[in-house]
Amino acid sequence: MPSAVSEIFLDFVSLVYPRYCFACADGLVKGEDIICTKCIHDLPRTGYHLERENPLYKRLFGRIPLHSAFAFLMFNKGGSVQKLMHEFKYNNHREIGYVIGRVYGEELTKSGFSDQFDMILPVPLHPEKHRRRGYNQSEKFAKGLEEKLSAPCKAEILQRLVKTDTQTKKTKLKRWENVKQVFAVQNPEEIQGRRILLVDDVITTGATIEACALALINSGCGQLSVCSMAYAAE
Ligand SMILES: [Zn+2]
Repeated sequence: MPSAVSEIFLDFVSLVYPRYCFACADGLVKGEDIICTKCIHDLPRTGYHLERENPLYKRLFGRIPLHSAFAFLMFNKGGSVQKLMHEFKYNNHREIGYVIGRVYGEELTKSGFSDQFDMILPVPLHPEKHRRRGYNQSEKFAKGLEEKLSAPCKAEILQRLVKTDTQTKKTKLKRWENVKQVFAVQNPEEIQGRRILLVDDVITTGATIEACALALINSGCGQLSVCSMAYAAE
């Protein structure tokens, strides 16, 4: 279909089946996807990538050899980011991660991060959980970042070996024991000396990130940075 015709067709489709912003329920216009421009603009950003010793960096510092750490959004209980993350993880709105990843990737690129990493590795789900949910939310976010940063997303390198229980009601120590040696690196030669961006959806205690990071460092990764969609300060 010639593009002018297909555009008219798509305009017609959105007239008949209007698409709505998932956050504010206003109609989406051409070029908007899932979330409207205003809602993207209003998301509570951390700005951590502009400040090396930010709260997330400080939280992880001393636990793992870390080059940099940043998170896009501030997780606010009962707020817009919690709603967004809930839709993203539990209501099958997998596109949210991709859209947010692209927005953050664009902002990181503008701040000079586009050639800082050799590869992007999402925190993996256990294969059984992955099958049940149908997607790995961290991988969706990583795919959005990949589109803007010049580094490939490699979802197969990190593997989750052990199925962990829901971590919400556990103490910090128990959580840590729970994730220790849960991750393994497939094809360690691929990460030798490489600058890796490890990507998660939400970071709270950092225990999962710490366990992934140790697996990567023990397998010879050259430099490790961490990036999440949201950061929940405890
Ligand atoms: Zn909106």
